[in-house]
Amino acid sequence: MTIATITVNGLELTVDSELTILQASMKKGIYIPHLCHHNELEPVGACRLCLVEVDGNWKTLACKTKVYDGMQVKTETDEINAIRKVALELLIADHDTDCLACAQNTNCALQRVADHIGVDTARLARMKPREKVLPVDTSNPFFDFNPNRCVLCGICVRTCDEIVNVNAIDFAYRGLGTKVAGFGDKPRLESNCVSCGECLVRCPVGALTEKNYQRPVSYVKTVCSYCGCGCGLMLGVRNNRIVTAKGEPGNKASDGKLCVKGRFGFKYVNSPERLRHPLIKRESGFVAVSWDEALDYVAEKLADSKGESFAAIASAKCTNEDNYVLQKFTRSVMQTNNIDHCARL
Ligand code: SF4
Ligand code: SF4
Ligand code: SF4
Repeated sequence: MTIATITVNGLELTVDSELTILQASMKKGIYIPHLCHHNELEPVGACRLCLVEVDGNWKTLACKTKVYDGMQVKTETDEINAIRKVALELLIADHDTDCLACAQNTNCALQRVADHIGVDTARLARMKPREKVLPVDTSNPFFDFNPNRCVLCGICVRTCDEIVNVNAIDFAYRGLGTKVAGFGDKPRLESNCVSCGECLVRCPVGALTEKNYQRPVSYVKTVCSYCGCGCGLMLGVRNNRIVTAKGEPGNKASDGKLCVKGRFGFKYVNSPERLRHPLIKRESGFVAVSWDEALDYVAEKLADSKGESFAAIASAKCTNEDNYVLQKFTRSVMQTNNIDHCARL
């Protein structure tokens, strides 16, 4: 790592010279307003809010400019603040600011930017109000997209491209009509979106929100139960129920990412239809029995089915050891090679 010594607002900092001004400042706890920056994505400099002054004579975007030894940065000057104010006002004038009804309230990057820069309501009132309310796309079964709360930061677009490699969405139309959309501006469900929710978790405002979202009071760390990848899960809990899930940051298997099953497929845990006892089908229908009775019943039936009439399909939800035991059981006890695994289906 090469080190650079820079000065930010008169404070001398020793930082990694590979970092941008924004990354270096944020690492040292100096906030520079921004909306379109995300540490896992390539910077694009779209929101123009992270403008800073360098060496007293030029201005640049902090998210796009790497530090160098001896660099002098000012994150606040009268001129920069005036420019930022206009950029912010244009965003807010075109924004549905019903914060109390928004899932992102108190956790919103636009609120933080507005809090930092300051909003002059008299100046805002002079701006042309929003012309139309765009329809909310509720087609996806797991999350909604409200374009009226979108700040066009492009984080979702870049996430879908750079991280998920699906490219389901992009910017559509031009100028004031610009919006994020799938091909042909059809409902999200009709795009090639795989509903992984990676865009949702990175959206800095309340434009992409989980359906029926409830803010959890605590998180429990666990491993996803769906497949053999073993992704790290953080289950959000409220009132002893799982209300949301997110990837475990830094997990060696999944690096904080999840697929649709791990992120949204937790409702079975609290489902009243969940099986809690073994069931045997009798003439009267399914009857709840003890585990001993169920296991004796299965053993008896299996004993009658040895040889080629038997086949077993192992599961990616089981451990390697469980799968090993199943193939051993199939070959040695059931006396057949008819053994397969769901990963090949
Ligand atoms: S996205 Fe942020 S600013 Fe907009 S309504 Fe939601 S909380 Fe308020
Ligand atoms: S949910 Fe996943 S696939 Fe769908 S748009 Fe978002 S990032 Fe792309
Ligand atoms: S939906 Fe969210 S992440 Fe995507 S552009 Fe709008 S504000 Fe940014």
